[in-house]
Order: sequence, then structure tokens, then C-alpha cells
Amino acid sequence: MSKTSSKKSARIGIISLGCAKALVDSERILTLLKMEGYEIAADYQGAQAVIVNTCGFLDSARAESFQAIAEALDENGKVIVTGCLGGDEAVLKRFPKLLSASGPGQFERVVKAVHDAVPPPHAPYLDLVPAAGLRLTPPHYAYLKISEGCDHACSFCIIPHLRGKQISRPAADILKEAEALVQSGVRELLVIAQDLTAYGTDLKHSESDWKGRAVKARLPELVFELGRLGVWVRLHYVYPHPIADELIPLMRQGLVLPYLDIPFQHASPKVLKAMRRPSYQDRTLERIRKWRGQVPDLVLRSTFIVGFPGESEEDFRFLLEWLEAAQLDRVGCFTFEAVEGAPANALPDQVPEKVKKKRWERLMAVQQRISAAKMNRKLGQRIEVLIDEVDAWGGIGRSIGDSPEVDGVVHLVGDLHLTVGDIIDAEVVKAEDYDLVAKPLQCLKNWSASWAPPTNHKPISPATMKPRVR
Ligand code: SF4
Repeated sequence: MSKTSSKKSARIGIISLGCAKALVDSERILTLLKMEGYEIAADYQGAQAVIVNTCGFLDSARAESFQAIAEALDENGKVIVTGCLGGDEAVLKRFPKLLSASGPGQFERVVKAVHDAVPPPHAPYLDLVPAAGLRLTPPHYAYLKISEGCDHACSFCIIPHLRGKQISRPAADILKEAEALVQSGVRELLVIAQDLTAYGTDLKHSESDWKGRAVKARLPELVFELGRLGVWVRLHYVYPHPIADELIPLMRQGLVLPYLDIPFQHASPKVLKAMRRPSYQDRTLERIRKWRGQVPDLVLRSTFIVGFPGESEEDFRFLLEWLEAAQLDRVGCFTFEAVEGAPANALPDQVPEKVKKKRWERLMAVQQRISAAKMNRKLGQRIEVLIDEVDAWGGIGRSIGDSPEVDGVVHLVGDLHLTVGDIIDAEVVKAEDYDLVAKPLQCLKNWSASWAPPTNHKPISPATMKPRVR
């Protein structure tokens, strides 16, 4: 938030930190407040209270959240904290002047704290709010969160502690939101959860009624219905589980993008065991081969942790060899960070920082070579591109292999009038290590949006590309 502006009544500021799942929570809170007639302030002085939606996945994310809370207290004074850190007692101890602190998904507590600090200006006028709710993403794509929390117990992660056990939304509830998003102009739905393949297990995969059809709370059934809405459907965080096999026929039918984000984290059975991840790496390679046999243009994205406690040089080389065999399309990498409260911190044989950094560089060099070769093979190919930005010389878009914020982009050159949200056909004329340059061929689908790209936008490049935190 910036620091100056005029002051009006019932104006709330919000600072949203962390992953796409936290962003969706911020959007829900904004939607609830807007329905009650609150206005959203763009700066501290224009706000009568400020909500800080925090992230606590890594210590660096906790530090950023603490810094944001301190700044909001200094600049505004009336601060409501929510999100991953909100449920942590340490927050109220450290900042006793907070108006309220609540955990992730506790929207009612946030709204109540806002009511206490700044009474609602008038009775609800639901028609003031778009049916699709308020969003922090551009109008042409949106995140769709289908469950909250996680039932796994990975030793490096405190998300189950922060966000609790998995709670899934009924399928009809999700489909209703998805339909409203599509009707509002969304062209790409990014379906997110900590583990999409586990969706609905807590509901025992029970059915709910969607337009006269009983739809099971189970990923393949949900994706089938989402695919019928006629927009790009992209899945983030799938496990190499038999349920993922059932998505392949849906890709062949064009109901979901041939893109899977699978956070493998490592390949060495020994390290995976210490991480408390399922160690199926042989079967996983087999599974990848089978998937690619059925969907040759399948794009696989993953993230890895190097320098995990006990990771030997042999384990690390195993990972590099696995990467060569898997030929993943998009890879993000973290060095192991001891997050406060994570069981992995107590493991023996912690890896020195220098070794972690070196391994990170070695892994990224291997992946850069794999990625560059894959990009080169696209030269001359015809691809579909969703336009994210337009400027004087062309525009920037994404192919089906590029998720926003975390993957590469397609630079579009040529004399064609582009509009944000269009899906066009383009021919690849140049390949870089992670990005492509393409010439638009013809406009496939038109869509007009009043949204203009921010002037300070920096396109993603390998230097700024970060793995999504999960
Ligand atoms: S890393 Fe992901 S799957 Fe593992 S416990 Fe954390 S949120 Fe759950």
C-alpha cells in the first residue's frame, strides 16, 4: 500500500501476502466487505483499518508478514491480521495492539473485526458486487480453490499445523463459483488446493446437485464439469496418484489443459522417506512415460528441495539423473530452509549453506539445458496463446504450458490488434531458455476487457521466476 491519500468513510485497506490460496482468501474477504458497502482503500491514510493476510510457509515469508504488520501499525494503527500466521499466539504477543488475529479461512472473524473497528456504512446492496465476487487477478484468469488444509505430514512443512486438516468444498458450490467467473469474462480457471488428488476424501466423495446432475466431490468428476464451461482449466498440485491417471482422458477430450503441476520435491528414496513423501520415483517415471504416450504434448511442472537434511552427494546425483530421465518441462527449486516448528529441523546431518547453494546452481543448470532443448523443439510450431498484456509492439501471453507468475511467457510480435484475454493462434519464431517469441496468425476468440496492464509490470524472466510456495 502507498502512504498518502484523502480520507473517506468505511474504507478498508488490505495487504495480501503468500500463495495463490491466500490470494483467494483475500478476494473472499474483499467480496464480503464490498457486499456490505465498504470501499477498498489503496493506501494507509485512506483506510480506516487495514487487514493483513499473512503467510507463514517459510521463515522468510513469516519475516515478510511481521514486517507488513509492523508497517501497517505504524502507518495506520488499526490492524486486523488473518491467514497462516493469524492463528499463531506469537503474533498477538509480538503485536499486542492488533485489533484481531484469526487463522486462514476464518472470514467471519475478519468481517466481525472490521465491523467492530469501522461500522458498515449501510445495509447490504448485493447488486453493488459482481456475481463473481471481487478478485485481485486480472479479469481474464482466476484461481479457484476447491479445498483448504492438508492431510499429509511432510516433515519440512507446517501448513497442516497452520491450516488444519483438509476441508473440501462440495462440487456444486465450486461449479457455481466457476460459472459466475466464466460469465464475468474469465478465460482461464486455475484450480488450486494443497493436494488436488485428495479432493473430496473428507466428504467421502459425496455427490451434490449441479443443474440436475449429481456430481461427486472427486477430482476427475469435478474437472469434467469444469471443462464443460469452455475455458482453459489448469490444475496446480497433483500427486502421482492413480486419480491423476483418470485426468489423462479428459486432456485428450480437451476438457482440461495438458498441464500438471506435481511437486515431487526430490527423487532419492532415502530423502523422500525423510521428507515423509510417498517414494514412488520408479513408478512415477513409468507413470510419466505412460501419460506422455497418451498425451504427447503434456507439460509437467514441478518443484524440488535441495540440501534437505541427510541429502548426500549420491542422493543429489540420483535426483539429477532422475531429472534427465523425467525431462520435466518447468522446474522450480528451493534450498532447504528450516521453518520454525517443522519436524525436519531436528533431523541429523544438516547440509551446509554453501553446499545447498551449489546444488541449487547445479540443478538449475541441468534444468536450463533441458528447458532450452524443449523450447527449441517448438520452433515453427503453431500454438494457442492467451493474451495477458498488450503494448505498442505486440504483447505478452501464455501458451497452455505457462501458468501465470511461475512459468515462462510468449512474446508476441507482429502487426495484429491484440486484446487482453484473447486466445490467438501463433507460430513460434524464436525460442529462449524459458520463453518463446511467436507471430500471431489469427484471432481465435475475441474478448474485450477494460483492464489495462499495469505500467510497472516486469515480464517474468528466469531471474525473477520463482517456484510457487506450497
Ligand atoms: S508440503 Fe504440501 S502435501 Fe506436504 S504437508 Fe505441506 S501442504 Fe501438505
